[in-house]
Amino acid sequence: MSDTLPPLPPVGGLSTKQVRGAACVYCGIHLGVGPAIDLGEQPAAVADLAVRWFPRACNGCGTP
Ligand SMILES: [Zn+2]
Repeated sequence: MSDTLPPLPPVGGLSTKQVRGAACVYCGIHLGVGPAIDLGEQPAAVADLAVRWFPRACNGCGTP
């Protein structure tokens, strides 16, 4: 984890692909075979349920 990354957006406002790590959590670009930055397992609360999700970021968003 890097201190330079912006805060993660609320998981409830993200697409399914973003929640699954298939798309950049910040800009929504598809993350295919290219490099991506793993932001690690994150806890969240969705509809009063405790869940975990695995956001990833593209290099454009994840590097200063
Ligand atoms: Zn991005």
